[in-house]
Amino acid sequence: MALLEALRRLGQPAGRPPSPQSWPGLIEAYRSWLPVSAATPVITLQEGATPLIPAPVIAARIGRDVKVFLKYDGLNPTGSFKDRGMTMAISKAREAGSEAVICASTGNTSAAAAAYARRGGMRAFVLIPDGYVAQGKLAQALLYGAEVLAVQGNFDRALAIVREVADQYPVTLVNSLNPYRLQGQKTAAFEVVDTLGEAPDWLCIPVGNAGNISAYWMGFNEYRNAGLCRRLPRMMGFQAAGAAPLVLGRTVEQPDTIATAIRIGNPVNRDNALRAQSESNGAFMAVTDAEIIEAYKLLGSGEGVFCEPASAASVAGLLKRQAEVPTGATVVCVLTGNGLKDPTTAIEHNDSRFHTGLEPDTATVARVMGF
Ligand SMILES: *Cc1c(COP(=O)(O)O)cnc(C)c1O
Repeated sequence: MALLEALRRLGQPAGRPPSPQSWPGLIEAYRSWLPVSAATPVITLQEGATPLIPAPVIAARIGRDVKVFLKYDGLNPTGSFKDRGMTMAISKAREAGSEAVICASTGNTSAAAAAYARRGGMRAFVLIPDGYVAQGKLAQALLYGAEVLAVQGNFDRALAIVREVADQYPVTLVNSLNPYRLQGQKTAAFEVVDTLGEAPDWLCIPVGNAGNISAYWMGFNEYRNAGLCRRLPRMMGFQAAGAAPLVLGRTVEQPDTIATAIRIGNPVNRDNALRAQSESNGAFMAVTDAEIIEAYKLLGSGEGVFCEPASAASVAGLLKRQAEVPTGATVVCVLTGNGLKDPTTAIEHNDSRFHTGLEPDTATVARVMGF
């Protein structure tokens, strides 16, 4: 007993470590920054407080004393940043007495909508583009108890339909047209500043419907206006080359990319995103699928961070534009979703050796290992 106690003291500084349960979810953590009141039923899965992970391998590629961090929002409860928006949208829908919600989704919105709606005792209807949703995301929506409607058409078409349904029937729209979504998502910018003590020089972020880049910009501005940071980052938005309406300056009718989460041709938050770009002296740029996969593999095998292909667009973009990063700058790349969402892409695109069908004996294994 005494020995155990002594050992315990040796390994531990005085005082308890922080409790893993001390984070109450982002609505409670940032309550004064959000449009909630005592009457709002908070529907939470303790989302938020995701780590800002240093990325030394990527930083070394750039050199010039540039510091790179990964805001790993794939560690949210359903595996993407969509949980930040959904805790707000669903809590407010519940407050308004809604009994059902609907969204169109490339996958992650449907997973988050399903989880939070069911937790709030509501029905969740999700429209997805038939055949273009990664397997993990579909599995989530089904397991969380959503009613999944796969439509023959792309995301943009599905969104047009859910807008009409929400207009005509008693269901609440929880796509990022719902203003509470961006309110919840802006907390990611708060967390970045709360962790670094200042805003980064660059924020690199994948852009699909352009809600998240708009939300980050709102968050950084609110913190700056309150004196909690002094500067604002340049907002660097990256789109897949086959789905780059903000780079091209026009709607893309047939968006196409391996990064299905950003396979969007007509972004709903176009105006907000353009404002973020011009006010921050930022830029929209395209990265090819090959560049996305390159960054995806580098994140996994170089940094030990598994994100989904769309998320890797932020790092692909940073590497593509690295010559423009100022010496000594701090860069945050947003990793929007967890790699486990899309196992198919990982199995098809990696540089690992996979030895199959081996005889089950030690000699064989050692030989294959190269001994
Ligand atoms: C939704 C999503 C995006 C795109 O975010 P927008 O707000 O639509 O620009 C990027 N990556 C992942 C993993 C997503 O789920």
